[in-house]
Amino acid sequence: MTAINWHERAAALAADGRAFIDGWRVDARSGQRFDSTSPVDGRKLAEVARCDAQDVDLAVAAARRAFEDRRWAGKAPAERKRVLIRFAELMLAHREELALLETLDMGKPIRYSLSVDVQLAQNCIRWYGEATDKIYDQVAPSPEDSLALITREPVGVVAAIIPWNYPMLMAAWKIGPALAAGNSLVLKPSEKAPLSSLRLAELALEAGVPPGVFNVLPGYGDEAGKALALHMDVDCIAFTGSTRVGKQILQMAGQSNLKRAWTELGGKSANIVCADCPDLDAAVASAVGSIYFNQGESCNAPSRLFVEESIREAFLEKALRLVPRHAPGDPLDEQTVMGAIVDQIQMKTVLGYIEDGKAAGARLLAGGGAARQDSGGLYIEPTLFDGVDASMRIAREEIFGPVLSVLSFTDLDEAVRQANSTPYGLAAAVWTRDMSKAIRTARALRAGTVHVNQYDNDDITVPFGGYKQSGNGRDKSLHAFDKYTELKTTWIQV
Ligand code: NAP
Ligand code: MG
Repeated sequence: MTAINWHERAAALAADGRAFIDGWRVDARSGQRFDSTSPVDGRKLAEVARCDAQDVDLAVAAARRAFEDRRWAGKAPAERKRVLIRFAELMLAHREELALLETLDMGKPIRYSLSVDVQLAQNCIRWYGEATDKIYDQVAPSPEDSLALITREPVGVVAAIIPWNYPMLMAAWKIGPALAAGNSLVLKPSEKAPLSSLRLAELALEAGVPPGVFNVLPGYGDEAGKALALHMDVDCIAFTGSTRVGKQILQMAGQSNLKRAWTELGGKSANIVCADCPDLDAAVASAVGSIYFNQGESCNAPSRLFVEESIREAFLEKALRLVPRHAPGDPLDEQTVMGAIVDQIQMKTVLGYIEDGKAAGARLLAGGGAARQDSGGLYIEPTLFDGVDASMRIAREEIFGPVLSVLSFTDLDEAVRQANSTPYGLAAAVWTRDMSKAIRTARALRAGTVHVNQYDNDDITVPFGGYKQSGNGRDKSLHAFDKYTELKTTWIQV
């Protein structure tokens, strides 16, 4: 806990919603703006530049110039490392300001903006900075009359389009490897939460990232986003967001210049708890804590819980005791663990799914409605449905809100089959003390990440991404460099 009065800080905040192009804060060429309002209490935060194709042209041209004159790509790796580590240090130095922007812009509790979002985002930038001068290329086993080199080169101008649920962290997952590899970047944050990305660009410049190398264009998806995805001079697009838009991104890449297109998309992750799980209390706390964390607005949220029938009652009894602890509160209060839903549209979607679950015959055991309505903000109670059938929409579709669907099973193979019977494949978990069973199940689950006897542990050292319609790329770890580099063969006659 800090001694900070976050309400005072919020009242004094002057957020700048202008774009960041070629090292400068600028309005959209059209002069158009839109209001950013906070889901915390409905206050207006900033007027944000509504960038469109004209601004995209300017930013891409700036990024291209910066790439061609090698002001960044041409720096020694050790120098890029120094700059990126300085950037991470500046993020830490400004952590309270960044955390406040994140909380006000998208509604998450300030305690987590500080301890999770800023912390993980700066660590990501630092980690890729550190990696910059520690990665070696390869020499191929060629005949004696030749020398064959396999080297990585930056792909050029990278466009990144990111969602609003972890705005700063999703930005960092792109910025870190893209800049470490020597690319220039044009980032389009979600219209719903653009403010932290814009501030990051200023801090990067201050740290020594040259102008033009890192540009941020706030705006709407079907204007700025689409113009980036269709741009003929963008070499690579790294997208995080919904599966629906991810499909459009791949099409737009194909329609235009066949830019490398990477997608990190939605999920409907299964959490399978067997009767022989090593610690039932831990499994319950994890299942409940993970679905309500970030208001359920997490791509990897374990939103389908499969509990073995023989422990279902005991599990639910324990779970229902924990649920009230996740009741939404004032996001600016450091005690609060669940905050506001990002906007009215998302609020309607989530409440719609809750109505759908009730109508389909699922048993509503907790929550089910809006909360804190006198706050002027947008809040939903932590909600739990039991008796969910695999055919119900609440068991099949990504809700992206604080709603847990509980299904039960008697046969593990059947549970795994159901867990896999979804278009998604982002994450999954199994809880059992039988290690052979755990390993067999982990192998059978079609997901980019499988957790065993825990749910949320991972870090920057391991890749994150999806099987199937959860996407085709991997963020984090050294594997992320694959997205932002070309592989070159140089065959030399000796
Ligand atoms: P979204 O609606 O797909 O939007 C994502 C981004 O794409 C936003 O910046 C959006 O801009 C932009 N966009 C929308 N339409 C576009 C178009 N036609 N062309 C180009 N860009 C366009 O997703 P969201 O609601 O922001 O985020 C939630 C989704 O992200 C969930 O499905 C979640 O699972 C997924 N997610 C995945 C991961 C992962 O790593 N796999 C991580 C986090 C979130 P505007 O918002 O300004 O319209
Ligand atoms: Mg916002």
